[in-house]
Amino acid sequence: MYDVAIIGAGVVGSYMAGELARQNLDVCVLEKHAEPGYKTSCTGIVSSECLALLNVTEDIIQQESRSAKIFSPSGNYIKVEKDITQAYVLDRPALDRVLASRAVSCGAEYYFSTPVTNIIINKRKVQIEAGKNANHVYIDARAIVIACGSIPALIKRLGLGSYTDSAYGAQAEVSCDSITEVEIYSGKQLAPGFFAWLVPIKHKRAKTGLLCSNNPKLYLNNLLETLEKQGKIRRAGYKISFGKIPLKPLSRTYKERLVVVGDAAGQVKPTTGGGIYFGILSAQVATKTLCEALQQDDLSARNLSRYQKGWQKILRQELDIDYWAHRFYSKLNDAQMNHIFDIIERHGVHESILTSPDITFDWHSKVILDVIRHRSLQKALEKLNLDNLVTKTH
Ligand SMILES: Cc1cc2nc3c(=O)[nH]c(=O)nc-3n(C[C@H](O)[C@H](O)[C@H](O)COP(=O)(O)OP(=O)(O)OC[C@H]3O[C@@H](n4cnc5c(N)ncnc54)[C@H](O)[C@@H]3O)c2cc1C
Repeated sequence: MYDVAIIGAGVVGSYMAGELARQNLDVCVLEKHAEPGYKTSCTGIVSSECLALLNVTEDIIQQESRSAKIFSPSGNYIKVEKDITQAYVLDRPALDRVLASRAVSCGAEYYFSTPVTNIIINKRKVQIEAGKNANHVYIDARAIVIACGSIPALIKRLGLGSYTDSAYGAQAEVSCDSITEVEIYSGKQLAPGFFAWLVPIKHKRAKTGLLCSNNPKLYLNNLLETLEKQGKIRRAGYKISFGKIPLKPLSRTYKERLVVVGDAAGQVKPTTGGGIYFGILSAQVATKTLCEALQQDDLSARNLSRYQKGWQKILRQELDIDYWAHRFYSKLNDAQMNHIFDIIERHGVHESILTSPDITFDWHSKVILDVIRHRSLQKALEKLNLDNLVTKTH
C-alpha cells in the first residue's frame, strides 16, 4: 500500500511526487505514456519565480526573454521591454524528464505505459486499476492525487463536477531565421477571442501557436501560412501538438482521500493559458495538506478541504480578475481592439504600466486593474460604448 498514488507524470504530478517522497512517504506515479514529456504540448514559458521553484539546471532553458512585440489586428505593434529577463522558455519534455528523475531519486516509483482506468475510494483506502495487458496493475494507496491534465470524463466520474470554460492550445515548432524576440498577435482572423504567439528559441527554431475555442488545427494552419507568407518562419520539419486548457477552476478540488492539482483542477491563468506556475504553487499547498493529513491519519474530505482553502487564498482573486479580462477581451471586435491599441501607443499607457512595481509575468490582475483605470484608456473605453460589453462580461 502506497501512501500516495499520483495520476500523471506531467510537471505538476512529478513535482509533487518529488516533494512527497522527500518527506519519506511511499509514493507512486502512474503515467499513461511510455516516458515523461512524451506528447507534451507546451511552449514552456515561465517566470524567474517559477524557474526558481522548479529548481532546474540551465541546460533546459531554450531562450531568455526580456521584451515582446504585441501586434494589433491591423499589424501595428507596441514593444514592451524590461532591463532584466522576464521569462524563460523551457524545453518542456526535458523539464518533465528532469522532475520525474528527481522524484525517482527521492524514492518515488514510476509506472509508465500505465493509463489509469478505474478509481475506487472507500473508507480505508483508494483502489486504482491501471494499465493494459502485461502492464495491468491494481494499486492500493492511502490517498490519490489527480494530476493528469484536464480530463472531463474522469473528473465527472469522480463526482467533482465539470470545467465550465476551456480552450484549445495548438503549437508547432518551426524554423525561424530572422525573429529574435517574442511576438504576440491578436485579431479575430488569427485567434478569435485569444491570441497567437511566435517564440524564438535556440538554433534558429521557434515555437508558434495559439489559443482558440474550436478548430485548433484549422487556426494553427492559418497562422503558419500567415507567418510563412510574412517570411517570419519556414515550416520545414515542423511538428504540431494540441492540448485542452481549462480556463476556470473546478468548484471542488478534493474529496475523501483525494486532491486534484494542476490543469486537472483548472489552476491555469485564463489570460494566457499558462498553467505551470499556478500548478506548482497549488502542488505545494496540496503537498503540505496531504503530509499533515497522512500524519494525522485523517484523510476525510473535511480535513482535505484545507487544500482548496489554501490554493484559493493564493489564486482565487487573481483567477477571477484574469477571467473577467479574458472575457472582456474576447468580446472586442478587431476595430475596437485596433482603437484600444492606438490609445495605448499614443498615450504611452504601456510605458507607464511597465515602470509600475505591480507588473510581473505571473500576476496579471493588478496590471489589468491599472490598465482599466488609466485615464486615457478610460475615456477611450467610454467612447467605444463598451458598457453593454462590460455588463455582459460580468
Ligand atoms: C499549446 C500549449 C502551450 C502552452 N504553453 C504554456 C507556457 O508557455 N507556459 C505555461 O505555464 N503553460 C503553458 N501551457 C499549459 C501547460 O502545458 C499546462 O498548464 C501544464 O502542462 C499542466 O501540467 P499538469 O502536470 O497539470 O498536466 P499535464 O502536463 O497535462 O500532465 C498530465 C500527465 O498525465 C498523463 N495522463 C493523462 N491521463 C492519464 C491517465 N488516465 N492515466 C495516467 N496518466 C495520465 C498525461 O500523459 C500527462 O503526462 C500550454 C498549453 C498548451 C496546450
